Amino acid sequence: MSTHKPLVIGNWKLNPGTSAEAKALFVAVRKKLKKDLPVTVVVAPPFPFIADLTRLSPSGRLLVGAQDVFYEDAGAFTGEVGAGMLASLGTTYVIIGHSERRALGETDEQVNKKVQAVLRRKLTPVVCVGERVRDGSGSHFGVVEAQVRALAEGMTVRALAQVVIAYEPIWAIGTGTNATVEDVEEMHLFIRTLLTKLYDRAVGKRVVILYGGSVKPDNAAVLTGAGMNGFLVGGASLKADDFIKIVMATLPA
Ligand code: PEP
Repeated sequence: MSTHKPLVIGNWKLNPGTSAEAKALFVAVRKKLKKDLPVTVVVAPPFPFIADLTRLSPSGRLLVGAQDVFYEDAGAFTGEVGAGMLASLGTTYVIIGHSERRALGETDEQVNKKVQAVLRRKLTPVVCVGERVRDGSGSHFGVVEAQVRALAEGMTVRALAQVVIAYEPIWAIGTGTNATVEDVEEMHLFIRTLLTKLYDRAVGKRVVILYGGSVKPDNAAVLTGAGMNGFLVGGASLKADDFIKIVMATLPA
């Protein structure tokens, strides 16, 4: 892991089923987190649970994020949730462009607009990028490059430096097949080099980059060695013990 403070985000997706279960899971994770741990730990529950959970962690030991956001603040947009609403609830990090949202039709342009809406509210966008398949031709670099370029379109150096990028190869999400340390190291370097080309070395170094895709307690320590700044965790974030083991694996030995 690098000199950045590690960041671990649990993406709960469409789980758990009730507010009571969400609170129980949140409290179980919070209780196991030691005070002053040098890791930023966030869980992103479904929207309806955010308000309850932020009230359960007033000290911010365990932060509450969101899984998506809309790019407008108000108006005739039935069913949408704005960045200002999330900010008013005490949300901190906002996942944007998750592959499961892109699969429902979210475009690079919408991702870019969502990132800007989130930054306007001083929240931290966590933008997911990643290829659908790896075929040995190296085309995955082109996919990720196009997504990062689209995300950076029209963005100032200052704005981009606030963005977290989560490299999540789609073939590794929820499949039990994680990317290898070499895959992750290579993509990490590729993204930093691209950011340096698009902006400058300071941005290239500063942007926080996470890995996501079947991170589990038994591979987290090895994957930590790939040099990313932490993890975006799906399935394993629904079990407090597993999630905490992943958090602890990001700490320097
Ligand atoms: C995710 O959905 O962002 C994810 C990484 O899921 P999982 O850890 O279950 O592969």
